[in-house]
Amino acid sequence: MKQRITLLGSTGSIGHSTLDVIGRHPDRFSLHALSAHRNWEKLAEQCARFRPAVAVTGSAETARLLEHRLRAEGIATQVEHGPAALERIAAADACDAVVAAVVGAAGLPSALAAARAGKRILLANKEALVMSGALFIAAVRDSGAVLLPLDSEHNAIYQCLPLQAGPQHTPHAGVERIILTASGGPFRTRDPATLADVTPDEACAHPNWVMGRKISVDSATMMNKGLEVIEAHWLFGLPASRIEVLIHPQSVIHSMVAYADGSVLAQLGNPDMRTPIAHALAYPERIVSGVAPLDLAAIATLTFEKPDAARFPCLGLAFAALEQGGTASAALNAANEIAVDAFLSRRIGFAAIAAIVDAVLSAMPHGAAATLDDVLAADGTARRLATQELERHARQGG
Ligand code: NDP
Ligand code: MG
Repeated sequence: MKQRITLLGSTGSIGHSTLDVIGRHPDRFSLHALSAHRNWEKLAEQCARFRPAVAVTGSAETARLLEHRLRAEGIATQVEHGPAALERIAAADACDAVVAAVVGAAGLPSALAAARAGKRILLANKEALVMSGALFIAAVRDSGAVLLPLDSEHNAIYQCLPLQAGPQHTPHAGVERIILTASGGPFRTRDPATLADVTPDEACAHPNWVMGRKISVDSATMMNKGLEVIEAHWLFGLPASRIEVLIHPQSVIHSMVAYADGSVLAQLGNPDMRTPIAHALAYPERIVSGVAPLDLAAIATLTFEKPDAARFPCLGLAFAALEQGGTASAALNAANEIAVDAFLSRRIGFAAIAAIVDAVLSAMPHGAAATLDDVLAADGTARRLATQELERHARQGG
């Protein structure tokens, strides 16, 4: 029996890498559904190649354009649109596994729908755990879903833990701490005084990874690592005090697990998302991913350093939000999304991203994240406050 897959966010960077791996194993995987937000033309090409039963776009207009193209080409894929359609393809009986690779808070409802439907979930969308980790993990537990991390660091940790025999998301005996590695992004060694002037293209020019623009900016501020600390907390059930961040500029070691006996296990590989994607798609088996073998002799040197808190204030903000608990991390994520979007559209400077997130976290109260409504209310408040803050920064020119 082939594994039937719904790929949410198929036109993005993770979506592209996932289809590359799936395309290498036509006997093993079939596609139930694909989704895009605006890029219906790329989605049409993907439908022509992979022939999913369903394709979803963000609006009625893009759905109409897609449908027109598919019918003209004699492709029978059914076309739907909107957030409710994303939730339907995530929970459909006709799919076994869901790759959750929509970017941002917009990816939460469909990832949660997959969790509630008891699917095998390959989670790239870290925002789902950052915003509503307790709810998400409870949904996974209650439904018997299987949660496999795609984020390279978390996938590395998963690979360094004992085979998942017992319940997921509780600390494994003997695990002392986990060590998330970070490249440090494009500005690791740049003079902080010059950071105010960096352009979106400079921020998106990651030294090792090719990714979507939002996560690339998050890597430059190290907010990405902060979000990953929160993600790791929920995935592996460890407190912030047992999650360490280490800069490793070569991005060869993708993360590590330190055990009580002094052993440290690491997962290594070339920086290419097809490795964690192939791992999670085939787990617990191993399949070809298309990634070139790691040539350690050519790399020769692996180095490590502690992150500089003053250079990367977003990292400290994320740790603080995790310590605060409740809706604080949903607010952190929402404020950051607004600020990064404003930076990418050149309305604010790079340094204003951290300043806006900091101001929003201090300005609002953080209550319990007991229901999805609590989380979405905090998300909405943080977006409003962040928009006000960024207007202030934009008026001040940065
Ligand atoms: P991209 O921006 O490259 O792709 C995002 C995908 O989501 C696209 O298919 C896009 O459609 C779709 N999308 C965008 N907005 C919406 C919306 N409002 N509703 C529904 N769909 C939407 O992102 P990435 O692939 O880089 O990242 C995806 C997720 O994976 C993120 O959460 C990121 O943090 C995480 N991740 C990514 C890594 C990477 O290497 N890229 C590594 C680890 C985690 P369209 O193309 O039409 O806009
Ligand atoms: Mg990562």
